[in-house]
Amino acid sequence: MTAVVLSLYDLGRVPIEARSLAAQLDARLVDLSTEAIPDWITDVKAIVVIVGMHTAARMAERLLPQLRILAPHAEIATTGLYARLVELPVDAQFGPEESAALRAWVRGNLSRGEAPTAPGSGLHITPIDLIGAARYRSADGREYLAGAIAATRGCLHRCRHCPVPVAYDGRIHLNSADAVAASIDEQVSLGARHMSFADPDFLNAAGHAQRIVAAMHQRHPSLTWDATIKVEHVLRHRDRFAEFAASGCTFVISAFESVDDATLLELDKGHSAADESTAVEILRRAGIDVRPSWLPFTPWTTIDHIVDLFAFVADHDLVASIDPVQYGIRLLVPKGSLVADRLHEQGRLETYDPSALAFPWTAHIAILDELAVELAIMAEKAAIETEPNHVTFDNMRAAVHDVAGLAIAAPVSVPRVRPRMTETWFCCAEPMASQIRDASAGRSGLTEQDGPAHQ
Ligand code: SF4
Repeated sequence: MTAVVLSLYDLGRVPIEARSLAAQLDARLVDLSTEAIPDWITDVKAIVVIVGMHTAARMAERLLPQLRILAPHAEIATTGLYARLVELPVDAQFGPEESAALRAWVRGNLSRGEAPTAPGSGLHITPIDLIGAARYRSADGREYLAGAIAATRGCLHRCRHCPVPVAYDGRIHLNSADAVAASIDEQVSLGARHMSFADPDFLNAAGHAQRIVAAMHQRHPSLTWDATIKVEHVLRHRDRFAEFAASGCTFVISAFESVDDATLLELDKGHSAADESTAVEILRRAGIDVRPSWLPFTPWTTIDHIVDLFAFVADHDLVASIDPVQYGIRLLVPKGSLVADRLHEQGRLETYDPSALAFPWTAHIAILDELAVELAIMAEKAAIETEPNHVTFDNMRAAVHDVAGLAIAAPVSVPRVRPRMTETWFCCAEPMASQIRDASAGRSGLTEQDGPAHQ
């Protein structure tokens, strides 16, 4: 019987990397964000669960007891960015670049009692499901099928709050330009009108990235695209953005995180708040929208920082470019996190909490944790009620000003629609419904930062 790769959650994107892994392992891919667990899992001997994000790890934690019952003959492994960062009751764990060891593990399990199937023969190429994936919503409000691709893996940087350096230690791997082009061609043939580059940072290998988008634009001139690019790279590569815009780039996600320079230094972000303003200016001048991601609640956060963050967003006309869930995100500290030692030295880290798959930490003042929960709940309620972003922003800013003892600010004007994906958040630890459930049950209910911090 075959092996199976389970993809749990990948920000709503087409699980291209999971598909490629499944092909390498001759395994069937099941995308549990769009499909149910199949009946045939009963006979499977090897299950590989992808935990590329903390969200996926939390989902895996809940799924594993069920899998043990449904697939009693299977050995279960995890792989992906978080596989070695969280403690899950599995039989084996493999980091994101340990596919050879993973193949050997799968092969060993498949051959228990029968002749092994040679992994890598590509027997199981899972069809791409663009229909069930997050869509691209353009500035005119229309929605289009979207694909996903990555030009690189890993990251050259070591931001302290990010899981990528734990696995990659400042290294990157280039994906073959031919393989990237072939995957883009396939997704376009299936109807993709937009491509999301899922690289942790698209400009870690700027020349490689530029060649890939130039080739993509030549073959598919009407295709639009987005990528994640850190502030430092936006500034360093400012001359590339006019060409990117001309080749279809409509928006860039960028991890601003905070508007407090001391916090940015603690996180080793390599940029200042002034640089964030410059990045907005560079991208807008090129005709590219910027979608900042934030990490508002850290152990160093004060209420003034949150007030300043809301002011920055209003002053830079960014309200429509930020999902409200971003305002309640709280630093996540999984095992191995580069920020853990620093927090330990500062006496801010508590004992590892296996149920949260992370170290709890204490806020500067307790009311900030309450505010983080309040903002997360407001974001979820707004998403459920499809409240316009600017209304949610005004409500959240009023809550922040209330805690800060400030007068309520004048409402922001109705912003124009900005291009984006339909998935409502780039990163968080829990599906939003569970935040309310956890909060009402007295658990933390906090929305924690997840994944490459700017995804
Ligand atoms: S936050 Fe972004 S730039 Fe920093 S280490 Fe992570 S992936 Fe790299």
